[in-house]
Amino acid sequence: MTFLLTCKEFLQELADYLDSTVDAELRRKLEAHISECPNCFVILDTTQKTIKVYKGMQPQPIPEEVHIRLMRAVERKIAANRTVAGKPGL
Ligand SMILES: [Zn+2]
Repeated sequence: MTFLLTCKEFLQELADYLDSTVDAELRRKLEAHISECPNCFVILDTTQKTIKVYKGMQPQPIPEEVHIRLMRAVERKIAANRTVAGKPGL
């Protein structure tokens, strides 16, 4: 059987392919498709690169000053909500 997937089918299976959850036969069909279809190859290539960049990102530590200001802002927000909730009709 040598039928090729359509681009639509390829894109439907792309996420599973990237997660390596596709079975061997479907994987072969997907790989056959990208060898024939430059458009889908580019989509796969770009998506894989994007995932690599995303996974390679380290969470940046928040500077102490920013953290303190953020916490104060959150506290003010909570306090403001409490005030409003405590005074209905305000
Ligand atoms: Zn295609």
